[in-house]
Formats: sequence, C-alpha cells, structure tokens
Amino acid sequence: MQWTYQKGLHDLGNGAYAWLAPDGSWGWSNAGLIVDGEQSLLVDTLFDLRLTQEMLDAMRDAEPGAAGRIGTLVNTHANGDHCHGNQLVEGAEIIASVAAAEEMVELPPEAMAALMKAMAGDQSPLGQFFRKCFGPFEFEGIRHTPPTRVFEGETTVRVGDKTVELIQVGPAHTRGDVLVHVPGDRTVFTGDILFIDGTPIMWAGPVQNWIDACRRIVEMGVETVVPGHGPITDERGVEAVRGYLEYVRDETRKRYDAGMDAFEASKDIALGDYASWGDAERIVVNVDRLYREFSGDDTAPDVPTLFGQMAELAGSRP
Ligand SMILES: [Zn+2]
Repeated sequence: MQWTYQKGLHDLGNGAYAWLAPDGSWGWSNAGLIVDGEQSLLVDTLFDLRLTQEMLDAMRDAEPGAAGRIGTLVNTHANGDHCHGNQLVEGAEIIASVAAAEEMVELPPEAMAALMKAMAGDQSPLGQFFRKCFGPFEFEGIRHTPPTRVFEGETTVRVGDKTVELIQVGPAHTRGDVLVHVPGDRTVFTGDILFIDGTPIMWAGPVQNWIDACRRIVEMGVETVVPGHGPITDERGVEAVRGYLEYVRDETRKRYDAGMDAFEASKDIALGDYASWGDAERIVVNVDRLYREFSGDDTAPDVPTLFGQMAELAGSRP
C-alpha cells in the first residue's frame, strides 16, 4: 500500500488512523488514533494547542462517537511535539513510561515559551536557527499536563476488543521511548524511534538500544508503520533508519579512535545518500552522544552548544 504524505488524517482501515504533518522537520510530528466500538486511544498530542485542536476536530469528524471522548492517551516520549497538547484531552488516562514522565518535567511548555521569548531578538546564527525550527509554533498559554499512569518495560491496554501493546524501547531517541503496537491491525506507531526521510536525532542513546528497537519493529511483522515524523512506511523505512544509525556509529568510532574533536567529526563524516534526508545537521547531536557513549560519559548533552553547532552546520550546507 502506497500512502500519500499529505497533511491531515489518514484512515488506515479497521479503526486505525494516522495524523501526518509534512514536512516532518523540527516540531512537525505525526500522531495516531486507535478505535474500537465506542472506545479510543490517542497516540501523542502535537507541539501546540492550535495544531492539537485541529487534529482532534478531524478525528471527531471521522469518529464522532469514539473520538468524541478519548479515553486513553499515550505519549510515546517526552519531546514537546508529542505531548504539549495533552491539556486538550484532559479527563483521559494519560500513559507514558516512567522515564518519559520524568523527562517531561525538565522542559515543560512554560519553559519553552520563556526560551522563545528570550531568543526573540537574537540575531546570531543560533537565534535565527532556533526561530526557523520553533518559530511556527505558539508555546504561550500551554499548561504542562503530565501522565496519570506510568509503566516500565511493557504493558497492554484494551481499546474495545483490541489489545494495544506499549513497549518501552528507550532510552534511545530520548530516555523513555515507547512503541505502540496494535497486533490485530498489523500496525505500529513508533514515535521518534523512526524519522522517515528526515534525520534521526539521538538525545539519549545508547545507540544499540535504538538499533534493537528497529529490529523489534521488523520482527512484529506489521504492514503499516507510522513514524514520529515523515511519511507512513513499512519494513524498508525501519531498515533505513537502522542503516543510518549503524553507519554513523561506525564512522564516528573511527574518528573518536583517531582523536578527532566531536564537532570536527560531525563535519567530516560524508553523509552520502543520507544527505538528502531533512535536517542533516542533527548529526552533530548524534556524534556528540556517541562520543559520550564511547568515553563512558553519562552527563546530559549541552543543548545550547549543540544547537549553535547545528546552526553552523545547517548554514554551511545547502
Ligand atoms: Zn518528534
């Protein structure tokens, strides 16, 4: 099945839907809806309230009964483009991994709004890059709405007669990534374990967890794979992400062993076909994370510095 990559709600059949947001770059995230009978489960909210409301309206048009009152929301991970809209489904049970719930507290929407204000007049390459990535969104007035139920490892949820498996595969992209698998629909919603035609960004690692997560998705034998960003895919999309991670891991290792500085290494690695993926500058974060992994450094990434380096790299590449 060939899916079009168009903004809006896509009916996957049997009461499963994907919400897609081209072009899948910074903050333009996908979401999902799983329906059976009068019950529904939403996979992720969006980066701001306007976008989330637009999506919920489309879902209610498609499923007036079940999506009229969404009973369960799963946040696949802590990044704001997957949970900032939570307050619009208040009353639902909100499920996330323990690690994701903890990470959400560190950069709540209120902090993002303050950060955008502070960067408003910044004419540096960093300020301009930041506005290019996050300027289209409205963070003002969003209230941090945390999960009401957390789990570790794996758990299952019922939606009508459907069984939905929640499988924690992080830390990988972030600290608490979760896959949402609907075996009966042969569908999986992967959150940001998959960026399709866009560059994966590894905030947490270790890289092997992420590679293992890709293998896990392939082993599900599903037909439909809804990524966190980019078009709907299948096994081939999963293998492409795994290929990128393995390639960048191996190329980074060579430069680490040769004593090259991490930022130099991220500029030095030839991206080949991966250069056509969006947001190629994210390799900065991936190489930084791998260097820390190789040296056993467990500390958190220096996010402002990494954004400055991504701004530099994005500016130097066409
Ligand atoms: Zn995302």
